[in-house]
Amino acid sequence: MKYIGAHVSAGGGVENAPLNAKEIGAKAFALFTKNQKQWNASPLTEKSIAAFKKNCSDNGFLSGMILPHDSYLINLGHPEEEGLSKSREAFNDEMTRCQQLGLKMLNFHPGSHLNKISPSECLRRIAESINIALEVTSDVTAVIENTAGQGTNMGYAFDQIAEIISQVEDKTRVGVCIDTCHTFTSGYDLRTKEVYEQTFAKFGEVVGWNYLRAIHLNDSKKELATRVDRHHSVGQGFIGMELFELIMNDSHFDNMPIILETPDDTIWAEEIRLLYSLIR
Ligand SMILES: [Zn+2]
Ligand SMILES: [Zn+2]
Repeated sequence: MKYIGAHVSAGGGVENAPLNAKEIGAKAFALFTKNQKQWNASPLTEKSIAAFKKNCSDNGFLSGMILPHDSYLINLGHPEEEGLSKSREAFNDEMTRCQQLGLKMLNFHPGSHLNKISPSECLRRIAESINIALEVTSDVTAVIENTAGQGTNMGYAFDQIAEIISQVEDKTRVGVCIDTCHTFTSGYDLRTKEVYEQTFAKFGEVVGWNYLRAIHLNDSKKELATRVDRHHSVGQGFIGMELFELIMNDSHFDNMPIILETPDDTIWAEEIRLLYSLIR
């Protein structure tokens, strides 16, 4: 079964996210459990946690179909001690928030070397950050998102993701989220059945299908291999409609959150309906 949704607003409190998801006909959703542009957040209140859980169960959202995203400020591969410890502290806090909400995953962008350390040292730090977070929390899986490789962002090549996973101690609590826009602009083609199959065969070979936990389903405003991260609405970008049809009919993507991060939130309901209609 396909669980399609979008990254919805948690404005006014996390408990509003499932309501916003219901409104657009989603069966899955993503959210920020705190303001994604600030370091500090007040702890989740008991009341907010209870309301979140109730709104999820009342509206049929399974905890495994909810994919929280961490703050954009966090860099788990930070080259400097201060930035690294600040990031690790914030990430541990986000993992804890997920645990409090009864959620199973936290999705994050791996990190950036900022031209101050080597890519491999950056990957080592990211893995160490994950190990620390897994040690101080339980039940929540750290879900690495592949990136477009903009600037000094790591995690744009499948072998970089595999390298991080190889250094994570508890492999039962590390996973991967594939963002289709990032995959495409990082250089893996997805536009036709032939190249789609090649790209995902490579993913299976290098990373392993057993690690796949979620999909960010986006078209791209930028061309193949431009290493730029600009999402577009379904079928309107350089990837085009065929990818969406392929994903909707590929059982590899059953029973996991399929999350739209497309730029026009006024058409999310329409996009979700369209995607479901593509299932043969
Ligand atoms: Zn994404
Ligand atoms: Zn993106």
